[in-house]
Amino acid sequence: MNVRTQPPAISFIDVGAQRRRLGKAIDDAVARVLNHCQFAMGPEVRAFEADLAAFCGAKQVVSCASGTDALVLPLRALGIGPGDAVICPSFTFCATAEVAVLVGATPIFVDVDETTFNIKPGDIAAAVETAKSLGLKPKAVIPVDLFGLPADHDAIRAAADAAGLFIIDDAAQSFGASYKGHRLGTGPHVTSTSFFPAKPLGCYGDGGAVMTDDAELADIMRSIRIHGHGSDKYDNVRIGLASRLDTIQAAVLIEKLKIFQDEIETRNKVAARYAEGLADVCAVPTVPEGYTSVWAQYTIRVPGGRRDAFAEALKAEGVPTAIYYPIPLHRQQAYKHFPVGKAGVAVSDRIAGEVIALPMHAYLEPEVQDRVIDVARRALKK
Ligand SMILES: *Cc1c(COP(=O)(O)O)cnc(C)c1O
Repeated sequence: MNVRTQPPAISFIDVGAQRRRLGKAIDDAVARVLNHCQFAMGPEVRAFEADLAAFCGAKQVVSCASGTDALVLPLRALGIGPGDAVICPSFTFCATAEVAVLVGATPIFVDVDETTFNIKPGDIAAAVETAKSLGLKPKAVIPVDLFGLPADHDAIRAAADAAGLFIIDDAAQSFGASYKGHRLGTGPHVTSTSFFPAKPLGCYGDGGAVMTDDAELADIMRSIRIHGHGSDKYDNVRIGLASRLDTIQAAVLIEKLKIFQDEIETRNKVAARYAEGLADVCAVPTVPEGYTSVWAQYTIRVPGGRRDAFAEALKAEGVPTAIYYPIPLHRQQAYKHFPVGKAGVAVSDRIAGEVIALPMHAYLEPEVQDRVIDVARRALKK
């Protein structure tokens, strides 16, 4: 009898491998917090904000409780609310539009480019027109640097300047990536990121940060982060949130940031190996000249209604895949009543049926990756 032994399971994202690499450094960092007991806004929070500023070049860093809050803080600090429109892509994680609704504003959905998966800057003006025709005041645009790749920030800035829009960049998936020689965190008026465990720079729970060069705005966000405090915590000058980054998470992030650049380089090697192994059989992601990606996801496109069969074929051989995102926001139950910009969202509708992400993390061994490539090639040729 021919008994085939199952090869070892492949992780889609391997958080455990990084934990093993960091080992005692994390144990010691957490132990220090357990010893000093300053669990809220302890010294590690300030230290991590300074490290993050040094890493990305932003003048101001305001850490907070999640990537979602990192988008709410600038919206609230700018006073964006009812009657205002916030323009964002439809093909993104729901939090990008959710925050607009949370502050009482109206999200307006714009299409994305089918090769970068990022907002089409050329469609922003049409969304501004749509907002005005509905009696809304267009106030901000939230571009997303999806799957680790920066959006076209120069073109977005030009469109935003023409319409007087504030730019809040949703870099939840892409912190560490760079656009034309500078890391995300500088450039747009504000950059927000997430430290959710599955993001390229993740902590061991929830966390986020806002980066900006605007000191005044940063101070307002620091106030909103802790119940709208004024000169001391029992002086309340505005309505705020409880959105501190836990000291333990800051301690973990300080250690993780030390190996982040190395992990970014490894992720890029993994992406290059995928491109080499798959470019002749499917649409692989490409990085425009002058950009770098941190590869939060490695997303290929399998058109023609063949995606589900492809996913099944990989699953049968122990290769996990994931679909980000199967339903664009303008078709979600919670968001479908919000407007779509005049230029439409045809690409978002189409690619939602084609995209599929392959295992991607900094600890994916070349031999394991070659198994993924081999299985994917066979499935694509069927
Ligand atoms: C993860 C994510 C967020 C939200 O981050 P949380 O830390 O989970 O709140 C926002 N936008 C995008 C594009 C994301 O991927």
